[in-house]
Amino acid sequence: MLRDMLSRSAAIEAIAGQHFEVVVIGGGITGAGVALDAASRGYSVVLLERGDYAEGTSSRSSKMVHGGLRYLQNLDLGLVREALLERQLMVQLAPHLVYPTPFLVPSFAEERRDRRVGLGLNMYDVMATTRVGRSRREMRSSKEEDEDYYWSPNRHRTIPPDEVLEILPALAPRDPRDAYLFYDCQTDDVRLVLTVLGEAERFGAVMLNGAEVTEVLLEHGRAGGVAFVEAESGERVEVGADIVVNATGVWADRIRPEEVIEEEDVPRISPSRGTHVLLDRSDLSTGRAACIVPAGEGRAIFALPWYGRTLVGTTDNDFDGDIDHPQPGGDDVEYLLDAVNAFFGVSLSDSDLVGAYAGVRPLISTGDPRKSVDISRKAELYETSSGMLTITGGKLTTWRRMAKQTVDRMVDREGREAPCHTAEIPLGMQARPDDLQAPDGVSEESVSQLAFRYGHAARAVFDLAWKDPKLAAPIVPGRPDLLAEVAIAARREQARSVADVLLRRTRLGLLAAPQLHSADAVRPIAEVLGGEQGWSRRQVKQEAEAWASNASNNLGA
Ligand SMILES: Cc1cc2nc3c(=O)[nH]c(=O)nc-3n(C[C@H](O)[C@H](O)[C@H](O)COP(=O)(O)OP(=O)(O)OC[C@H]3O[C@@H](n4cnc5c(N)ncnc54)[C@H](O)[C@@H]3O)c2cc1C
Repeated sequence: MLRDMLSRSAAIEAIAGQHFEVVVIGGGITGAGVALDAASRGYSVVLLERGDYAEGTSSRSSKMVHGGLRYLQNLDLGLVREALLERQLMVQLAPHLVYPTPFLVPSFAEERRDRRVGLGLNMYDVMATTRVGRSRREMRSSKEEDEDYYWSPNRHRTIPPDEVLEILPALAPRDPRDAYLFYDCQTDDVRLVLTVLGEAERFGAVMLNGAEVTEVLLEHGRAGGVAFVEAESGERVEVGADIVVNATGVWADRIRPEEVIEEEDVPRISPSRGTHVLLDRSDLSTGRAACIVPAGEGRAIFALPWYGRTLVGTTDNDFDGDIDHPQPGGDDVEYLLDAVNAFFGVSLSDSDLVGAYAGVRPLISTGDPRKSVDISRKAELYETSSGMLTITGGKLTTWRRMAKQTVDRMVDREGREAPCHTAEIPLGMQARPDDLQAPDGVSEESVSQLAFRYGHAARAVFDLAWKDPKLAAPIVPGRPDLLAEVAIAARREQARSVADVLLRRTRLGLLAAPQLHSADAVRPIAEVLGGEQGWSRRQVKQEAEAWASNASNNLGA
């Protein structure tokens, strides 16, 4: 079971004036991965996050753990292969949190089937072959030994119209001729970050959010720690470290030690914005499958089921706006809705959205003038003459490889004997809904959702709900998330605000935005948070109002 993250005050005490072997800047998936990898190889580690964990790109992804069929077009074969192997490993390490989803690419009577898709899927199948060197018989027998623990994707196949409609009834008006069926995986991106952080904590890493690094401290020209500003007190705090790792994603080119650096020692980020919208399943449902939807000019988007809603995305455009608060672009929303309207024969508009969000990809500019869609998603590791390591680019799916690459460099530099273990470290502990005992009145949907989100740690949520039946109530009527989760978020996961809870502990800010616009609607959340943090009544009111006045910003924040 996950241990509690240190409370913020305990973390501050453990950090201030101390010396660690490694300080990681950035609490997205990359920083979380580096913290876990380094801590599990025996390093003492501290991780500092400016805002909230996963507040950057890692809460704004398409929530897929995938090879990226699309990158085959750019012949990014190494990246696809690596990501496909990681996909399989993630299902194994976090079976409760990373799950396979069938994807359909339908074709219709009037169209010629796009053979390139079939070719791409053949390559995808071959590249997804796991554990090179393992025979099919070995794979089959390990599958039989532990059915739930092992997932190996079936090869893609073409399915007939009746099977298409059985999986995706919304296509009935289009009279599909057939469809390619293949598999990729989905997750909750923030929960993946929190789960990896929970494991890092188990290996002794200390972490703090609300800690903006403002300076890399230099000792004789070497990076020897950082100074950060602690959000609640506004105080500047110094922490010493032998190695500084910059894992700040799209902000990576803003952290620069005060030294003469060659421009090629630091990345040049070329941000690309991706917008997503969420729809009620009564307006558009893809059943339990995802569907690839053509979106003009040879591009495609997807519609997929996520937390009982339909998630539609994504766009991919160069972005020169505010990367701290990227908002869903109006044109992008229109583009996504036009594509699903045309494809499914529906007429959805802005007013039908239950949520929308945008994220910015940390793409590394190589100086060539290619559009962001064509820039590789490969990760890059940089090292300045001060010794600071910067790891950026990459994908949610490939976090473990990025972390390994970074920590391997540290180990090599120091001549340590410390191999990477993260391929064997389970992420959280799986729990089946049947293993969990929920108080009366808690729906089966809540139990399943909690088992997915927390694994075994869902017991802590139910323990609270047993002790205080008020906390067994849903946060938003009709949605499965429970008020007890608000208390857990504050106690065990350093949640500090209503936005932390609604956007990054539960995902209600994206899934039920229209029901959460007013201060009154979020007041119960502020009350539970306030109870945990000792807020006055006035503060509770202010915190609820702060969410409401930022409600539209929060979707992008
Ligand atoms: C629209 C979109 C869809 C995507 N979909 C997928 C997908 O389906 N599957 C997939 O595999 N990948 C996907 N990706 C890519 C993936 O989301 C990113 O590669 C990944 O989340 C980047 O993680 P990161 O930790 O490097 O950066 P971030 O998550 O941005 O983390 C960086 C952190 O650093 C913090 N920080 C910044 N400055 C400071 C400072 N001075 N002090 C302290 N902290 C600081 C930030 O607050 C932030 O939390 C998608 C990306 C986008 C934009």
